[in-house]
Amino acid sequence: MGPRRFPGRKASVDTFLETLQHHIDALPSHTKRTARDYLAEDRLTRRIRHGEQSFAGELRGYQDRYHPAAAVDEQGLSLTCTCDRRQPCSHVSALLIDMERQILSYPEVPWDVVRQWVLDTVWQWDAAFAWQLVPDATPEWRMPYRPELGASVLAQVRSADYVPLARDPRVRIWAEAHSSWWEVPEFLQGFSRWASGARLSSADPRLCAALIWMQPALPMARLIDAGLMHRIALAAPLLGWLFHPRPVLASSSARQLRALESLTLAVPDGSGFLWDAFPDVDPYHLARADALYLAGHPQHAMRLLEQHLPTESLARRAARQRLVDWMNLDAGIPHRTALALETGQLDFVLPVRHLIGDSEWRSLEAAVRSRAGDGDEEPDRV
Ligand SMILES: [Zn+2]
Repeated sequence: MGPRRFPGRKASVDTFLETLQHHIDALPSHTKRTARDYLAEDRLTRRIRHGEQSFAGELRGYQDRYHPAAAVDEQGLSLTCTCDRRQPCSHVSALLIDMERQILSYPEVPWDVVRQWVLDTVWQWDAAFAWQLVPDATPEWRMPYRPELGASVLAQVRSADYVPLARDPRVRIWAEAHSSWWEVPEFLQGFSRWASGARLSSADPRLCAALIWMQPALPMARLIDAGLMHRIALAAPLLGWLFHPRPVLASSSARQLRALESLTLAVPDGSGFLWDAFPDVDPYHLARADALYLAGHPQHAMRLLEQHLPTESLARRAARQRLVDWMNLDAGIPHRTALALETGQLDFVLPVRHLIGDSEWRSLEAAVRSRAGDGDEEPDRV
């Protein structure tokens, strides 16, 4: 991962905005004036970002189109523009002023560019960027859901036609949708219907892998139902995204986690070293255990959690809760007892009451009640 000055935490956004402000203050006044004119005349369009590091757009000048870009690195901001004038030119200046106003609404590279990158084996990073595939304005589904904007998007996702994945206009919506859309029941139903009819199991694995990488909010259960997650053909392209030094869609913990889950589901045996290669993504092995369990390897999942029982109390409770859910009543007694003692809640051991002797039960009950009486605030479960 590169520098994470933005937008990880509020403080880093502020630091980044301060740097921007600094650059803007230092602009010659006539450059600033031209830049503001460009923005007032809506000449900056096709805004995109690459991860948290690079931002670019298309500027329709009075004679030509330019592509100003700003990249964040250890030194600060580096500025480039296709006009070849001395930097900072008025085009880059317009970009900086616009970024200062609305950096959080710069969308990532769109699906259409990703699709071209995936399917066209000739296109490389040093090739001209496919600006014509970036829409002028950010589509509604890339912005937080609002009922008054939702109708036309929902009408598109409701369509029941079968179209091959590479040409299906809905894939763009699944790939790019802002996470808030996945909370809208109609949107989710549309996806479920699409996933069950889209013949995902026979679609190009490179496209499927790109979709999974781009949209970590895709409902995993639906992909499993659609037969997608049991395809070994997904492994190579997913590994390509996971280990690419500079993927066209920047890496993030959410993307790494989803790729690791998908790889575990597609190739359950031997995916362990991959999780070990990204230890920060799943520090308590909970997601890895879930994926193994879903992949039909419950013994492996349980062994993993028992061997790495977290010391941090909320994570330990989450691990024990899984073990209790996955084990039979007998085997789960030690974890149920521990949960009851740690939380002061007898509910955890009630299902195994008949497996515990009367005197043992009485002392357990007394211990749990005294724990409950400690008056400790009950933290939320993870
Ligand atoms: Zn320029």
